[in-house]
Amino acid sequence: MTPEHFQETLLAWYDRFGRKHLPWQQPRTPYRVWISEIMLQQTQVATVERYFRRFVAVFPDVTALARAHPDQVLQLWSGLGYYHRAQHLHRAARIIMERHSGTIPDRLEALMALPGIGRSTAGAIISLAFDRPAPILDGNVKRLWCRLHGIDTWPGETSTQKRLWQLSETYLPRQRSADYTQALMDFGATVCTRSQPACFGCPFQGECFAYRSGRVDRLPARRPVNTKPVRTGYWLLLQTAAGEVYLEKRSPAGIWPGLWALPQWDRRHELEAHCRLSGLDPAFLHWLPPRRHTFTHFHLDYVVAIGCLEKPIRLNDVPARWIQPDRADELALPAPVKKLLDEVNRRAVVI
Ligand code: SF4
Repeated sequence: MTPEHFQETLLAWYDRFGRKHLPWQQPRTPYRVWISEIMLQQTQVATVERYFRRFVAVFPDVTALARAHPDQVLQLWSGLGYYHRAQHLHRAARIIMERHSGTIPDRLEALMALPGIGRSTAGAIISLAFDRPAPILDGNVKRLWCRLHGIDTWPGETSTQKRLWQLSETYLPRQRSADYTQALMDFGATVCTRSQPACFGCPFQGECFAYRSGRVDRLPARRPVNTKPVRTGYWLLLQTAAGEVYLEKRSPAGIWPGLWALPQWDRRHELEAHCRLSGLDPAFLHWLPPRRHTFTHFHLDYVVAIGCLEKPIRLNDVPARWIQPDRADELALPAPVKKLLDEVNRRAVVI
């Protein structure tokens, strides 16, 4: 398939079916495109829309974001996951103020020098925000190239990545750059989807290798089997007679950086020893059944021990708060902690 044929067909499809009313398209400023592209990494449009509106209402421009307190940024990100993205966004805003006089750069190298912006995100910002040709290669585009061209090696492999980037460059048009990038994203998200793609109405059906060879469900190739490691954690959920629960602020490194969570130990006996040191008898702890939270690279199996106290105590030498569970939304919480506190609030777990 020639690049011209691909571009014309894709843009004609976009003119009829593409998304033109997403919140970051109205107006489509470099700042709004940047925020949306970071939020859309690993996250679907439907989820991002709500977070995006809230975020730009509080931080309408780079200046406001750069001035924000890190906790406020994390709080608005709370529930969206992959919290390093929020930290990178905040750091990048401060760098843009210091080195670019508050203007979002329009060159690939300058964008890629900012925290959290890789080559594909930089390409998306340049094409969507500045309407200039720049290739992208997100998960949707990788899938489309693999199927159209019959690439059957795992897209995460370096040699495959290189080939896929070449395709993104080869098929890049010189005009309608913003529409073309949006079209690629929309086509992958709504037609050439991961499962059950809409091949029946697809304008590339005649040229598509995967469709013609009956291999749509086998392309792209899956990541070589590599089971995720399992880590274990023991969480302590303390609640006072007045209903407050104890939360600690996590360190800026590691999982859930800077978020508010329950204190965690690697082993049960460590949690129990710490309770004794703090004057709590571990015999009175109530243990919930194990739960699992899955990260990109590992599973966290955690067990929650619930303890009741008359009044607040100081448990660890780290920033900590006692807070009513129904006010926990005021803090940036990891999803499993938020869910647990919702359960406490609804009395779905008995304390
Ligand atoms: Fe994707 Fe099916 Fe179209 Fe091929 S025919 S590009 S697999 S939607």
